[in-house]
Amino acid sequence: MRESSVARSPRSRPRKARTEPLPPMRLGAGLQVLAALLWLPQAALIALVIGDLAGQGRAPEDFGLNAATSALAVAILGIVRALLDGYAGRLCFRRARQILSERRAKAAKALAARSPLDSGRPASGVAASILGEQGEAIVPYLSRYRPARLKAVIVPLAIVLAVFPVSWAAAIVLLIAAPLIPVFMALIGWRAQAASEAQLAGLGSMNGFLLDRLRGLATIRAMGAVDRTAKRLRQEAETLRTRTMAVLRIAFLSSAVLELFAALGVAMVAVYIGFHLLGQLPFGAWGGRLSLGEGLFVLLLAPAFFEPLRDLSSIWHDRAAGEAALKALDDLSAMDVAVLNADADDQRKGARAPAPAVRLENLAFAHAGAEQAAIEEFSLSIEAGEKIAFFGPSGSGKSTLLALIAGLAPADRGCVRISEQSLDETNAGSLRRQIAWIGQTPHIFAGDLISNVTLHRPWIGADNAQRALAAAGLSHILEGRDGHLGEGGSGLSGGEALRVALARLTADPRISLILADEPTAHLDSQTAKDIADHLLAFAKGRTLIVATHDPLLAHRMDRIVYLPKSAMRAVA
Ligand code: ADP
Ligand code: MG
Repeated sequence: MRESSVARSPRSRPRKARTEPLPPMRLGAGLQVLAALLWLPQAALIALVIGDLAGQGRAPEDFGLNAATSALAVAILGIVRALLDGYAGRLCFRRARQILSERRAKAAKALAARSPLDSGRPASGVAASILGEQGEAIVPYLSRYRPARLKAVIVPLAIVLAVFPVSWAAAIVLLIAAPLIPVFMALIGWRAQAASEAQLAGLGSMNGFLLDRLRGLATIRAMGAVDRTAKRLRQEAETLRTRTMAVLRIAFLSSAVLELFAALGVAMVAVYIGFHLLGQLPFGAWGGRLSLGEGLFVLLLAPAFFEPLRDLSSIWHDRAAGEAALKALDDLSAMDVAVLNADADDQRKGARAPAPAVRLENLAFAHAGAEQAAIEEFSLSIEAGEKIAFFGPSGSGKSTLLALIAGLAPADRGCVRISEQSLDETNAGSLRRQIAWIGQTPHIFAGDLISNVTLHRPWIGADNAQRALAAAGLSHILEGRDGHLGEGGSGLSGGEALRVALARLTADPRISLILADEPTAHLDSQTAKDIADHLLAFAKGRTLIVATHDPLLAHRMDRIVYLPKSAMRAVA
């Protein structure tokens, strides 16, 4: 027994999803800040020119400019600002899409690597909804919210620093008005986050519900449960509506709060400057009096001070939706039980390895959360090229055993040796290349028959698929209806669906070990015999392990290994 297969972390405790730190969007956000800061020289020039026209304060000539060049400079700065802002926005958007694609790919990969024995796998509808629809919420969050947040930190600060040397009183008014905004936003933000998470959860569960019911539409109709299903759907839709309205309410509330404070702040500065210029409030300008130009400069900067905060508020709910979506994607990436060496992705054609001998040494395995072990101290030696049946009642651990042999989950103890190689995290992928699995209910994808056989495995050509289909006795379907199949194999009988599965296996020239999990269950005896004939014919020169409770099939193998019901092997 190898050390590595002994020391395993307990699986009963689900692993927590780690939330990955987000990569920064420095360039895009930085350029947006720069664009916003260009308003400072623009405002200064405007104030200078207008102050000069009124004959007050310093003239543009003091800075080597005249009225015309100042106007030109204002226009040029405006254009540069717009271009910079547009370019930075595009940059942020592109980066955000790239990050979303990476996260999606990671989640999809993790989903694919999850063991079929992991009963905690998310429902396919929920996973599809998170990967597809909800994931999109990350883009506005990253491309708009995060640059806006940086802007909201830097720009008001820069403006206060510019206003302060002109008028400390105006700077103080701005400084007092500003912190109120983040405080209220944070208070609202907590509610928004919770509401947004509830809304996303509602969306996911509704999508999952819809997908499951659509799949089972025939059953629902046959059982006369259409009305009840429609009622449930209506309820789910109503819940989702309430949750969406809650999110929108909070979004509106937060912008209203912010607009209020921003308007108050600007009004207070305007009132102060106005009365100051009229001589009513003579303090606040470092001893002297503000000129018209200086007053105008402060007035022009006041709305710009609040603008980044207002931008931030208008996209405030993007943050909640984006963070909820990120969390959902990260949760999808979390795993309880993973397929061994799942990232090994061998697309080469490769020749067939000789039929392997399979040795199971003291194998033990308990499903996550199960009270008793499904497999306990199981040892068995299977010769190269042997045909063997795992025979036993339902629940005796046959499927689990096959999954362990294929490395679809790591064993708790003991080891699996295929051709003398101990199956582990480093070699399971390449060993699996020669293993084929056939179950009792193969999934048939909507589409044509040929790609249902090749499954887009690049090393299997259409000619391989055609030959395999002919050998499986499915040529008539290939010719009959253009080889088109419906979702879930509608239009195929159970026997035909299994023949498609057989063709998938026989089309792959690399296979030398076949694992068949109850391949003939649910079939009539004639079809079961045909399938078994075909399987045995293909298994010549290969190793075949069949899990079955069908004595007829079991007796056609070289050897039968009886597995008693696991309840009889309860853990003491
Ligand atoms: P068989 O294929 O012989 O019918 P299985 O290998 O499917 O038996 O199951 C063996 C035992 O493990 C059963 O008691 C079953 O309830 C349990 N089991 C199977 N799959 C899971 C799972 N994903 N999570 C928890 N328990 C499981
Ligand atoms: Mg089974």
